[in-house]
Amino acid sequence: MTAEALKIAAALNEIDRAFGPRTGRTVPVDGCRHCFTEDELAELSGPVARISDGNLHHAMFSWGGTLDESVDWLRWVTPGLLRSMMESGALLDDCAALAVGTDSTQQ
Ligand SMILES: [Zn+2]
Repeated sequence: MTAEALKIAAALNEIDRAFGPRTGRTVPVDGCRHCFTEDELAELSGPVARISDGNLHHAMFSWGGTLDESVDWLRWVTPGLLRSMMESGALLDDCAALAVGTDSTQQ
């Protein structure tokens, strides 16, 4: 792991600490049943660490459209979204992906 990647990993841990535990959400997020299955909505309403990257990214691009525009939900998943982006390189520009040591050609 590069020095830059270690700094990013430390920053992500601080973000997790700042946002607090993301495991006890009891308010389900609602969305269009044509765009999201019940299982996907249940996953999006549960512990953030268990939400798949694909489901999370789909939900982010649907937020306020076919997914309920709940600010609480957006706040709920934000640390998970940042971690997903930084660790997988998904949704990042090439410079940021290089900073975390991700080969963007693997996406
Ligand atoms: Zn739909």
